[in-house]
Amino acid sequence: MLVSRIEIIPLGGCGEIGKNMTAVRVGDGMIVIDAGLSFPSEEMHGVDVVIPDIEFLRQNRDSIRAIILTHGHEDHIGALSYVLSEISAPVFGTELTIAMANRKLAERLLPHQYDLKVMRPGEAFDVAEFTVEPIHVTHSIPDSCAIALHTELGVVLFTGDFKFDFTPIDGHLTQLSRFGELGDKGVLVLLSDCTNVENDGWCPSEKSVYEGFRRVIGNAPGRVLMTMFSSNLHRVRQAFEVAQEFGRKVALAGRSMETNVKIAQNLDKLKLPKDVMIRLEDVDEYAPEEVVILTTGTQGEPLAALSRMAREEYSRLQIQPGDTVIYAAKPIPGNEAAIWQTVNRLFRQGAVVVYGSEEGVHVSGHGYREELKMMINLTRPQYIAPVHGEPRHQYHYVKLAEEMGYSEENIIVMENGNRLIIEKDGAFFAENVVCGRVLVDTSGYAGVSDETLRDRGNLASDGVLFVHVAIDPDAGKVVGKPELISRGMISPNGELDSLRDVLAAMLDKLDHAELRDTSALHHEISDVARKYIKKATNKRPLVIASVIEV
Ligand SMILES: [Zn+2]
Ligand SMILES: [Zn+2]
Repeated sequence: MLVSRIEIIPLGGCGEIGKNMTAVRVGDGMIVIDAGLSFPSEEMHGVDVVIPDIEFLRQNRDSIRAIILTHGHEDHIGALSYVLSEISAPVFGTELTIAMANRKLAERLLPHQYDLKVMRPGEAFDVAEFTVEPIHVTHSIPDSCAIALHTELGVVLFTGDFKFDFTPIDGHLTQLSRFGELGDKGVLVLLSDCTNVENDGWCPSEKSVYEGFRRVIGNAPGRVLMTMFSSNLHRVRQAFEVAQEFGRKVALAGRSMETNVKIAQNLDKLKLPKDVMIRLEDVDEYAPEEVVILTTGTQGEPLAALSRMAREEYSRLQIQPGDTVIYAAKPIPGNEAAIWQTVNRLFRQGAVVVYGSEEGVHVSGHGYREELKMMINLTRPQYIAPVHGEPRHQYHYVKLAEEMGYSEENIIVMENGNRLIIEKDGAFFAENVVCGRVLVDTSGYAGVSDETLRDRGNLASDGVLFVHVAIDPDAGKVVGKPELISRGMISPNGELDSLRDVLAAMLDKLDHAELRDTSALHHEISDVARKYIKKATNKRPLVIASVIEV
């Protein structure tokens, strides 16, 4: 395909960790890499997940040739159902990624709304005018890949999430030599994971977790409960193997744990030792020191099995004194409070909880500095752009690239909504595209407005105040005193009583015409109440005024 320019438009995942989604336009066609979500921060009351604003994709819906998924993590596939409900394009991913996407899509969309296609690492394929090549990389979920888009101007290379694990659990090494070959061929731009750029050296192999598990499980007096991401099937397998070594059986708790293990086993992506798995219902038939339970709930999610056990609300299994609970995962920022609450509840019930990387029960899935450098060395790109990182990660990646001899004009720091244009003679930014975030309510509705969020914030911290005023329109006067009803507010010094007097005095001064203009009256009442409460209590409750004609 003869082209003179390539456009790269990140719609999520730049300057943040989460909701990864990038559009690449070559000629008339467009490819979208990943469609991920992120999790709400604590102040986003009632928000379930956050997804990228896809207005730009809507505007270009006829150009979109395909959506390509790098791997099955939520920050890469979690927004797919929202995207596909508006955009129709085939979705390509590796076997496991597609199986995981399929499970989610089947719950939310009708079969004709999605078209999933399996791609195989190492096998380039054409979709419309694009040539797409998935390249296997190691990461904390099997079947992850980098994506090379072959174009006239050179290769556009997305690393996806990666580390260079030289002793991968499933035996599938990163296709190092292929990255080197692409380097020889000419990589135009490398869009690299930079999440762990602040860590020197090499990320420990996933295999190192085995020793950590051995140490803890070998010393555990009773049952062992382990919580980990159910998608981290390498770790699930190691848990089974260590359990077997100590003569323990393994049961699974939590829906995603059960389904992901089943999906991966069916695809032969997860090899578990024979005769180790038992049903959760049969755990009591074994002595405590013969049992390991793998459970969901690493992030303190309220509905996850471990959180429910901690609250003594999980009918299938109860925590008992002597249990050891292993957190084989890291908190996602924002979830710490919920996690500590669960940990404390578990301690209170007599369990001993083991957490933190220093215990050797968790390693990251993202490469450290030496790995990031190795990727650059192998691919020797003309342009280099750190993605999958917050501004601080991008900043440190820029420093790293400079250390490696890259000059300013070849290092590109992108933000969501940027429109990067690369031509033969150089790269530049064109005007930004429409971009942002869409908040999905816990009810499933996508599009919680900033105003709603602000109201929820005020309600949560300062409560709500209703002001009812009755008017006799014929007589042109107020009937009785305003009625105030509050919820979640405090007025220790009778502030609400004084406010009622203030409002009554204000209403007294209004003439007939002013009293009949209900919309202005609503506004005036709310305004006076809001200002008064702010001044008296330094709080900003949500104020709702109603004027009733009697
Ligand atoms: Zn990711
Ligand atoms: Zn990932």
